[in-house]
Amino acid sequence: MEFKLSPEQQQIKKAAYQLAKQEFPKYAHASDQDEAWPRELFETVAGQNFIGITIPEEYGGPGLGNLENALIMEQFSRVDGGLAVAMNATTFGSEMLHRVGTEEQKEAWLAKLASGEAISGAAISEANAGSDVASASLQATKDGDEWVLDGQKYWITNATIADVLVVLAQTDPDEDNRHARHSIFLVETDREGVSSNKIEGKLGIRASPTAEVVLEDVRVPEENLVGERGKGFPYVMRFFNETRIMVAAQGVGIAQGALDLSLEYAQKREQFGQPIANFQAIQFKLAEMATRIEASRLMTQKAAWLADQGNAQPQASSKAKWFSGETAVWCADEAVQVHGGSGYVAEMDVERFYRDAKITEIYEGTKEIHKLIIARHLLGQIRG
Ligand SMILES: Cc1cc2nc3c(=O)[nH]c(=O)nc-3n(C[C@H](O)[C@H](O)[C@H](O)COP(=O)(O)OP(=O)(O)OC[C@H]3O[C@@H](n4cnc5c(N)ncnc54)[C@H](O)[C@@H]3O)c2cc1C
Repeated sequence: MEFKLSPEQQQIKKAAYQLAKQEFPKYAHASDQDEAWPRELFETVAGQNFIGITIPEEYGGPGLGNLENALIMEQFSRVDGGLAVAMNATTFGSEMLHRVGTEEQKEAWLAKLASGEAISGAAISEANAGSDVASASLQATKDGDEWVLDGQKYWITNATIADVLVVLAQTDPDEDNRHARHSIFLVETDREGVSSNKIEGKLGIRASPTAEVVLEDVRVPEENLVGERGKGFPYVMRFFNETRIMVAAQGVGIAQGALDLSLEYAQKREQFGQPIANFQAIQFKLAEMATRIEASRLMTQKAAWLADQGNAQPQASSKAKWFSGETAVWCADEAVQVHGGSGYVAEMDVERFYRDAKITEIYEGTKEIHKLIIARHLLGQIRG
């Protein structure tokens, strides 16, 4: 057993941190305040090949694994958790194309996504179908050689900037097994009947655009079916096994960034004639933050490593995602406490970390859903 990243992985981690440290601060505050996706920053990040990390080389990507992707996500989030996810604009949905798409679909989209020429989104959730993915009701009806899609999706990351969406739709509503009623479709956003409405006023990750998507009698050819009809639900679950690890990495990064800020502030800020870092109450916070972060990072990297061995395990992804999300929220809270009143204003980065942390306990499965997955595994109710 070796607790060491390879030299290449260490280099990726270092380069990702350097890039984020150099570029993100120029955009972090304004993107948060204005809820604006910084295209210019995305182009810089794409130019340095930090997007589409898992897209295979034959389709123009670097063909790296979940572990490398998680290292980049952690280092980006360490500087800004909102910008980190905002830079992840070509990953959403591309995993599904990469895993189960046809050769034509991969050729049409993966190279463009790997270079940043196109942006994607994964449209799974609906206003009334969040944790219960199988209740998604957007309909796809067969009409000759085409499918007609009708309905709404909600909370869709990147929908306002995306060129293509990977959409979960109900194709077989009469199927007895509710997990065999859905299929996945590739929907180009310039098709007639596709529109999106930006959701404003999010608590955190405000640089990452989120929207409602409306599909009104949208016609797509049979070739836009991704994978097999009726397999949409298992495909989405498989997709989550990997993408949840990225949210776990986002949580680890936000927590680490909160610790970085706390360490700096605690040694600078003086009260009672000495740096507050001299007080044991503050030292205990720093020690507990560092310990929780290390545990979260180990679980996240283990889940990523398992997935890279072709052995993605739902319970490993869920443990990493739940624990890292809680770590992010806990550390960001303690970091504000270390900063006292100074941590309570938007001028200070730590205030944004506090707001950005919360999402890691909500999207890609809430922490309650992850505990259910872990418990079901313990009780032998799910395989894997
Ligand atoms: C900023 C943002 C970006 C997002 N991006 C995307 C995206 O790109 N694509 C996409 O498809 N979706 C996206 N989502 C949706 C996200 O995945 C859902 O919000 C999430 O899965 C939770 O669903 P919900 O909001 O409907 O909450 P609900 O499912 O209504 O849950 C509400 C509460 O009930 C609890 N609960 C629900 N069921 C159970 C149960 N069985 N047992 C115990 N507790 C339960 C939950 O844990 C939670 O505390 C995004 C959401 C946000 C906020």
